[in-house]
Parts: sequence; structure tokens; C-alpha cells
Amino acid sequence: MKSMSPVWHPFTQHALQPEAVLIAGGEGAWLEAADGRRIFDAISSWWVVTHGHRHPHIVQAIKDQVDRLDQVVFAGFTHEPAEKLARHLIRIAPPALEYVFFSDSGSTSVEVALKMALGFWRHQGESRSRILALEGAYHGDTVGGMSVGERGVFNAPYDPLLFDVERLPFPSVGREQATLDALNAACRKGAIAAFIVEPLILGAGGMLIYPPWVLAEMKRNCEAHGVLFIADEVMTGWGRTGTLFACEQASVAPDIACYSKGLTGGSLPLAVTLCRADIFDAHYSTDRTRTFFHSSSYTANPIACAAALANLEIWEREPVMERIAGVTAFHTKGLDGFRDDRRFANVRQIGTIAALDIAATDAGYMADIGPRLYRGFLARGVLVRPLGNTIYIMPPYCSTAGELDLVYDAIGEIAAEIE
Ligand SMILES: *Cc1c(COP(=O)(O)O)cnc(C)c1O
Repeated sequence: MKSMSPVWHPFTQHALQPEAVLIAGGEGAWLEAADGRRIFDAISSWWVVTHGHRHPHIVQAIKDQVDRLDQVVFAGFTHEPAEKLARHLIRIAPPALEYVFFSDSGSTSVEVALKMALGFWRHQGESRSRILALEGAYHGDTVGGMSVGERGVFNAPYDPLLFDVERLPFPSVGREQATLDALNAACRKGAIAAFIVEPLILGAGGMLIYPPWVLAEMKRNCEAHGVLFIADEVMTGWGRTGTLFACEQASVAPDIACYSKGLTGGSLPLAVTLCRADIFDAHYSTDRTRTFFHSSSYTANPIACAAALANLEIWEREPVMERIAGVTAFHTKGLDGFRDDRRFANVRQIGTIAALDIAATDAGYMADIGPRLYRGFLARGVLVRPLGNTIYIMPPYCSTAGELDLVYDAIGEIAAEIE
């Protein structure tokens, strides 16, 4: 039976899931459905909500900004929320990132990063235009993002549109050197403009974690060959991996960095691409053809920038790092119950992200196990969207031990049910 709604939802097979849950409200780590159900948001509404839904400081900042300025063209014009936000970001980001380009989503921040990298080389008269990426990577659903991301069922129909990239094997345990060797070999061939990578954990690719020393070595190798290093911290940014940015754990200073998701605390869409001064300088010229030709209508929307500024204030004023340490500890305790459980494999964690694979004969993303798990959690009042047979939990930082107990109890119950 087809739904009566004209809405076409993302990543949704409407023939198998005709009805969407109608949500009327959200508070802290909880969603409130129109039928009165309360649902614990164990995935931070697709990884964006960091301090909880409707944090009062962000809500107030949005209200105040609406009363002053809602939107203004950002070419030739600027506004205080954007200026203040850019300065603040430069202060807290890894060293040497000196310019901030605004866009609206993680995907567009990646497109901007790729265009910056190609412009950088072209304007210096060097013919470097190839991009390096990791196998299993996810960098968004626009054409550039899909091109540098893993190819598969998600983008097969669009394959004719996607550009070719050099792909490195994922640095799985014991195979890290193979990745670094492949990186070096690719760089030595020349023509590589940039390497784009998700630092420390591949998100949509299955919550696959690799150690900081590998990230540091990747950066070192890129530097040796003059290859630009793009850190896609769209998911890992804003405390997810236990530090404000994942690159910090490897003392890596990227040449270009993409931040979005938690940038506004998860309240409004906004993204930034930060870059080194020499990348800006390569475009800086009285020659108009060297202009950085990228924009979207809502670039640096003042209300979204005000929400991001409020988010940064929360990081300064509230014990966010303590909350992150709390969630991290609750995960470690919760996962402990499953480490020696033969129904699970690859029990893993980095900061506030916990993941484990449920043993299943048919385990791919398209397998029935994912939707079965999803329904099992939802029936227990928990929002979890497994990636195939990978269950992951990425809750808002305001989550309590009791709330996470609820999630871990649900995992145990569902595993027993499926067995
Ligand atoms: C989510 C994500 C993106 C895409 O962000 P959108 O806001 O959904 O466009 C890009 N890169 C990574 C690593 C992500 O996790």
C-alpha cells in the first residue's frame, strides 16, 4: 500500500517502509512522536545533534538572530555572525588553517575542498588533478562526494557520471603498512592533487576504526610528495571521537578540513571548509579567472551562523568534555557485556561512537537483518539505524548512563530474539 504522503524520503525504500514516524517534538536525547511515543535518539538524528535537541542557548541565539537579519547575499556582503564564527573556528581548528569557506552541508563542504585543491594546482600551472581516497570511504551524496566515496549499490546507477579516483585499501589491523605503501606508490606516480580521508573512523562505510599513528603517517607521506591532505571531519568533528577534532589525536594539521554535522549543535544546516593560506593565495589575483567560483544561495546564512556561534559558546561554558568522557565510559561498560558473546563480532569504540556486528549469514547493507534490527529497536523506544549487520550507537552528549543502559538492554534482547 502506497503512503498518502507526497514526501520522498532519503535512503528509504518506500515499497518496504511505506510509513514514516511522525515526530512532533524533541528534547535532550529524546524525540516525541505525534502518537505520544517517546524515542531515545541513539544516533543523534543522523550524527548531527551533539548537546541534545533544542539546547536553550542555541534556541535563544536563533530567535535573537531572526529578529536582526535573516539572510543576505554573501558575495560582496558580510555579517557579524559569519565574521565572528570564522575567527573562532580558526582559533580552535588545527594549526595553519587560516581561511573559512561557508556552505550548507557536509557534501558541499567536500565539493568545496576538492575544488580548492584543483584550483590550487591549476593556478600554479601544475597539472595535478587526480584524487586519492580510501576504500570504504563516504564523503557525501553529491557527484564529487560520490566519486571519492566507495562505489557500490548506492551509486551504481550514477556511475557514468562519477570521476575516477585512486583508491587505497583500508588500514585494517595488521595491514596498515599496505595502505601506506599504496599511498606512497600512488603519490610517486605524480599528478595527485589531494588525498581525502575520514580521520580515525570511516562512518557510513561501517564504523571502521584505525589508529592515530596511521593517520599521522598518511599525512607525513602526503607532505613528502606535496599532496594536499583533506580531512573530512564532517562526522568526526565536534567531539565525536573523544577530542574536539579527530586529527588532534594524531597531531595532524590538514591542509584543508571539512566540518558540518555538529557545527550548529545539530540545529540548522551549515558547513565550513577551512584551508591554509597558500590555497587561498593561489586564487588571490587581479585576474578574475582565478576567482574561486563556488557559491550556494544560502552561503553563511546568518541564522545558521548564529546557531554555530551559540554551539561554540556551549563548548566554552559547559562541561562538554566531561559529558563526552561520561558517554565514552558508559559505552565501554555497555560493550563489555558483548565482548565475549559469540553472537557478536568486532566490538569496537572510539570516544562517543560504539559499534558491534551481529553474526548473520547474510550480512550486507541490503540484507534483511538491518531493517529487522531497526524495527526491533524502534519497538523498544530506541532509534538505531544499523549499517547492514553493524549496530552502532552515537548518542547526544547529554545522554545518561540510564538512557544508554536502555540501548544496551535492547541490543541484548534483540540478539536473543534473532538467534
Ligand atoms: C555525513 C557525511 C558527509 C555528508 O554530509 P551531508 O551533510 O549529509 O551532506 C560527508 N562526509 C562524511 C564523513 C559524513 O559522515
